[in-house]
Amino acid sequence: MSKSAAALKQQQDLALFENAEHENPLTSLNYHFDLAANLLKLEEELQQLLKQPYRELHVQIPVKMDNGKLQIFHGYRIQHNAVRGPYKGGIRFHQDVDRDEVLALATLMSWKTAIVDIPFGGAKGGITVDPTKLSRRELQALTRGFMSKIDLIVGPQRDIPAPDVNTDEKTMAWMMDEYGKKHGYTPAIVTGKPLALGGSLGRKEATGRGVVFTIVEACRVYGIDLKKSTAVVQGFGNVGSFSAKFLHESGCKVIAVSDVHGGLYDQKGIDIPSLIEHIRLYGSIKGFKGDIITNDEIYKIKSDIVVPAALGGVITASVAKKLECKLIAEGANNPTSKDADLILHKKGIPVIPDILCNAGGVTVSYFEWAQNLQQYKWDVIQVNDELKKVMTKAFGDVYELSKNHSVSLRTAAYMLAIDRVAQATRLRLI
Ligand code: GLU
Repeated sequence: MSKSAAALKQQQDLALFENAEHENPLTSLNYHFDLAANLLKLEEELQQLLKQPYRELHVQIPVKMDNGKLQIFHGYRIQHNAVRGPYKGGIRFHQDVDRDEVLALATLMSWKTAIVDIPFGGAKGGITVDPTKLSRRELQALTRGFMSKIDLIVGPQRDIPAPDVNTDEKTMAWMMDEYGKKHGYTPAIVTGKPLALGGSLGRKEATGRGVVFTIVEACRVYGIDLKKSTAVVQGFGNVGSFSAKFLHESGCKVIAVSDVHGGLYDQKGIDIPSLIEHIRLYGSIKGFKGDIITNDEIYKIKSDIVVPAALGGVITASVAKKLECKLIAEGANNPTSKDADLILHKKGIPVIPDILCNAGGVTVSYFEWAQNLQQYKWDVIQVNDELKKVMTKAFGDVYELSKNHSVSLRTAAYMLAIDRVAQATRLRLI
């Protein structure tokens, strides 16, 4: 073999290895589903029904770009299950969005809403696009185009979208406005709206706040002193920044944070409120006190608590092998691969699974939807108190099950969710 052919082969082998690390997002979900379904002795026909989505919509969204050319985007809305209430779940704008990812995320939503016991099912949507490459006008046209295409399957009693990765209250305002053109004023069509359009107080912070409620509970049952602990947070978007902020407020030292552009490390603890203000003023962490690290280096830093709060698939088997923390809290959806999960379980590191850990967002979405339907506004104390109640109860339910069956928190969470959805299904269909 010539030298360049050998180099090429080596590169291909490396790519194969990296691909093996990057598993299909449905792999871990199916694995955890089967495990829990077997422990529950779930009927075969219910297993089949719950593993598959009710409906999948794949739409084309043509957008006239600023340069005058037409560009065709692809969008998805996948409705997994609605036996316990209308479909519910966010809309993601990302260049890697595809059908399998949206299906995995839709399925996770069904389990999530069941664990916190709110009257919703699960759905997810997404558009394959890098939104940072679009102008504000193009983004608005794309969002409106998407809403007009999924309009036929959504509705305040049918399917209620919300923000997710790279979407926010501005996206929701456009979606609500577009829906309203055909159906009249309907604030309950989406959640995560701006306050002035019927959004709920406390919604923006809700996922991060919920993450920290579950961390507090986990520290209590596993005997970890949060005030003497250190944490690293990967991802500094909505979920990561608020998780870091509330961890900081709880007396935990956040020693590293990162986002797509890079990260920051300070063993003495980062002043999170000042960092948030710095990012608001200068748009990035550059110039803030601490060592600059790359996004990948975050998992090499030794800390007590690890919070993945960005995209899925980041905790691979090789990352899991190296992790030496006391607790992992999944702010992101589907961050841990199947093999990594097994490794962490064997190492005795408890993982608060996504479907429990980050359910605070959809819980306050439920409060927002309820306020919209009642045309009544809650104050922020009521929102946060109710959220705390819901998250604490959900953690307790999952933890009890995990102890009683000697299984991980994740398996217990799947058992709780699948059992609740299965019960509702039997009552409706059998
Ligand atoms: N996108 C969030 C999630 O994954 C929120 C969904 C919602 O509020 O409907 O849970």
